[in-house]
Amino acid sequence: MTMQIDQFPAKRKAAIHELPGTWAEIARRPESWPSTRDKPLEHAFFLNTCMNADCKTSWLRLWRWRHVPRFEGQWACSPECMRALVERAVERELGDGTSLEPIKHNHRIPLGLLMLSLGWITQEQLRRALDAQRATGGKARIGAWLMQQSNLSEEQVTRALSMQWGCPVLSLTSHQPETVSALVPRILLDTYGMVPLRTGSARLAYLAFEDRMDSTVALAVERMSGIRIEAGVVTASQFLRVHERMMGATFPKAQLLEVKTSGMVAKEMAAVIERVRPHQAKLVRMRRYFWLRLWHTPEFARSASGPQVTSSSLLPRIHQVEDVLISLRPEHAS
Ligand SMILES: [Zn+2]
Repeated sequence: MTMQIDQFPAKRKAAIHELPGTWAEIARRPESWPSTRDKPLEHAFFLNTCMNADCKTSWLRLWRWRHVPRFEGQWACSPECMRALVERAVERELGDGTSLEPIKHNHRIPLGLLMLSLGWITQEQLRRALDAQRATGGKARIGAWLMQQSNLSEEQVTRALSMQWGCPVLSLTSHQPETVSALVPRILLDTYGMVPLRTGSARLAYLAFEDRMDSTVALAVERMSGIRIEAGVVTASQFLRVHERMMGATFPKAQLLEVKTSGMVAKEMAAVIERVRPHQAKLVRMRRYFWLRLWHTPEFARSASGPQVTSSSLLPRIHQVEDVLISLRPEHAS
């Protein structure tokens, strides 16, 4: 779609020769260029300023029809410049200080000790539950043993979990799998033991965790969706039920890749962006997963940043988006 200079009137040719050399120069002096009256040819041209700070593309190469792809609200004049934008985003995500690994050993008070301190169980009951757990290789959680041996209720165990993780016990009224299946890709739900429950009246969605409320994970969902996430726990049996229902729902198209270096993350993502040519794309890291979401429709890309959005359109519909998940597994890690 490259336009030849000869196709333009002589007057325009002269104007082109007077132009500055790079996008960066144009961006610095937008008023120096003639008005946008000659639409639509020049239209794209004025809306789009390459956001790659090191863009070396000369002015003449920009006569291309390249509205999309867009990445995090930014336009890039070429695949090379898009890759530079994505590399910067990958660095940003890696630099946030959170570990690639999920929570394993936390510094929270153990659940059994917490219940002991609440006076819900005796020292003897705790000892018996710990013995049983050890004898079976830790297969069932301590809460499950206490329920079985000491008649502790499931609600008590869940309340203790919510205290342990400092999060609410969520209510299960109106679980709507189809309306929330575009919130988080299925593989991330499985990996981090969570299920989205519903959207709220404000710009809010409820996310239930099985037993470890990972606030880093919840924050990543919040950043990607642009809505507030209320994360909490539900009882084990409720979790099983909503999880099963959720797995019956249809999710947006997703693909999963595994790479060994962060440079590969950026390379793969930039390639997908050039192939899919989304109207909007966004990158968020959730522990070892780099989650790239691509919006196919400009409508939602606009409403996602608009101030007035009703709760029915809080989340995109499943066909409007697709996800790419790149798992970073450095070679030296076990
Ligand atoms: Zn550029």
